[in-house]
Amino acid sequence: MTDDKLNLSKLKGKIVAIDGPAGSGKSTTARLLAARLGFTYLDTGAMYRAVTWYALKSGIDPAAGDKLGEMASTMPLEFTTKAEVNRVLVGEHDVTTDIRSPEVTLHVSEVSAHKSVRKAMVARQQQMGKKGSIVAEGRDTTTVVFPQADIKIYLDANTRTRAERRLLDLERMGINSSVEEQEADIIRRDKHDSGRTHSPLTKAEDAHIVDTSNLTIEGQVARIIELIRSVVK
Ligand code: C5P
Repeated sequence: MTDDKLNLSKLKGKIVAIDGPAGSGKSTTARLLAARLGFTYLDTGAMYRAVTWYALKSGIDPAAGDKLGEMASTMPLEFTTKAEVNRVLVGEHDVTTDIRSPEVTLHVSEVSAHKSVRKAMVARQQQMGKKGSIVAEGRDTTTVVFPQADIKIYLDANTRTRAERRLLDLERMGINSSVEEQEADIIRRDKHDSGRTHSPLTKAEDAHIVDTSNLTIEGQVARIIELIRSVVK
């Protein structure tokens, strides 16, 4: 089944929401899908990473929920696309690579678990999705941010595959690690993200579950396009 049969005019204004654990293939899939549909790509994980980066830079304790919430609602945060690469800007700083550092990754689950931080970020995300024509991905885009999404996907894969993917991403950014280190980190973050009180990672009842362990990126995108075609006729 090919996507050239997709009726793009019928898709205009729609919201595609994709959730799943770290390394399940959300970011690459969502980015490619958005490009193919001519939609905006919203990486909500990058937003929580940017808050964490800013907190660490400003010397704010990752446990200080109130301070972090205030910072999250007022900090200058912008997404741009330069030479087909999505960039994240905090004020004048291009933090695209820095938000993927091991230090940010270590603290992001703690920072993003605060109710105050989530409230500020969800408000920003909903504002960005107001006009629709968006592919959003994260942990709560199908349940909290866009519960009204037209198509909901839950991506999953086994932990070893997810760790190998993360390692490749980091290597491309020149960051050294090992598959064991990444697997341990993924298990730690899964536990934190699924076990937290506010907006834990859960499968929305009406989400389509796609296991990506044995799928290529192209295969993942094709599978989602197939699902979109079956929902938006
Ligand atoms: O997707 P990524 O792995 O970059 O997300 C980094 C972290 O941000 C996650 O481990 C999670 O703690 C947090 N996050 C979240 N809600 C989202 C997206 C990400 O809590 N919607």
